[in-house]
Amino acid sequence: MATKLEPGEKAAKAAAQNLNVKGLVNKDRMVRNFLDMVQINSLSRKEGRLARFVMEQLSSLGMAAAVDDSASRTNSDTGNVIAYLPASPAASGKPSFLLSAHMDTVAPGEGIRPIVESDRITSDGSTILGGDCKSGIAVILEVLTAIVENNLPHGDIEVCLTVCEEIGLLGSKYIEASKIKSKFGLVLDSPNAHALVIQAPAGDNVEATIFGLEAHAGVCPEKGISAIQIAAHAIGQMRLGRVDRETTANIGSIQGGMAVNIVPSKVVIKGEARSLSLAKLDAQTKHMRTCLEKAARKFKGDVAFNIQRGYMPVNLSPASQLAKWVRQSAQDLKEPLVFAASGGASDANNFSLHGMQCANLGTGVRDIHTLREWLHLKDFLFSAQLTLNLLSKL
Ligand SMILES: [Zn+2]
Repeated sequence: MATKLEPGEKAAKAAAQNLNVKGLVNKDRMVRNFLDMVQINSLSRKEGRLARFVMEQLSSLGMAAAVDDSASRTNSDTGNVIAYLPASPAASGKPSFLLSAHMDTVAPGEGIRPIVESDRITSDGSTILGGDCKSGIAVILEVLTAIVENNLPHGDIEVCLTVCEEIGLLGSKYIEASKIKSKFGLVLDSPNAHALVIQAPAGDNVEATIFGLEAHAGVCPEKGISAIQIAAHAIGQMRLGRVDRETTANIGSIQGGMAVNIVPSKVVIKGEARSLSLAKLDAQTKHMRTCLEKAARKFKGDVAFNIQRGYMPVNLSPASQLAKWVRQSAQDLKEPLVFAASGGASDANNFSLHGMQCANLGTGVRDIHTLREWLHLKDFLFSAQLTLNLLSKL
């Protein structure tokens, strides 16, 4: 049923529909803000200075901004930054919407010296750029600034800038669910601004400690049980790498043994499994566990497990309300947009857990987690235009 609009509201809505949103995004301001932020060190658990910088900006827009109490659980020097922009008077009935990006970066990410070229920004090659995910924060700040300075009609906007995303999505994992009420949201934390990631896997962390028995390797090897042999046999039996279209698995680290002349009594292996399908994820994790148990039995050793579900999947349909809105926004701007599936998790995985339709939109950053990381300026700008158009026309 269509809502009946008051004359003032009607005019505001009509104005919003005809607005050239593209022209409201200020590229120079966005770039300046981005450059300021990448020069503030913010490795995981050390996001405090950046949090204060963004809170000042959010407050200057008239938003209520504060940090939550997640620091005691993430061990960061700050909580997640949470801020609200209440709906404009002419926009009652618009849905509340969450915008999110993470504040932490990977290493080497201290003392970043950005270099601006005509179409891109790079680091000087000795560090990452930090565009993952400060480009997302810059997009969010620009969208909010454009909304406020142009008086655009908008529903409630919630902003959540998280800590410790890079070390296991910890900020969004420990956020108080009651602090976020939006049923729709965008995480701005992927490369291509013309792609909306609507599917991302759930993941399990698999750690196994294998116990053998020590013995002198030359004098009496038959008295020993080699934990390394058990591990090798188990891993040799495992389906790893790309298991199927939706599922991947990896053993990422193996540690154990004392010396070449001692039969090794203990090995710790760490791995993971990911899948878009929870049933397939359960099956893959169980398979890895069974391989280890069988190998331990075969060689008369033992194995103990620490298996944890790291995050739940993002699994939105192209027909979902959020996907339709974002596609419409791209169409309004006469730009292409594809729906994508990613093998990587993001804070969107944790927000989805709370029943939110949440997808991951690109911000123009490329070659992340490498010294070659760079920001594609045209894509960066489009990310802000698309998001601003979306929020002003919901
Ligand atoms: Zn990221």
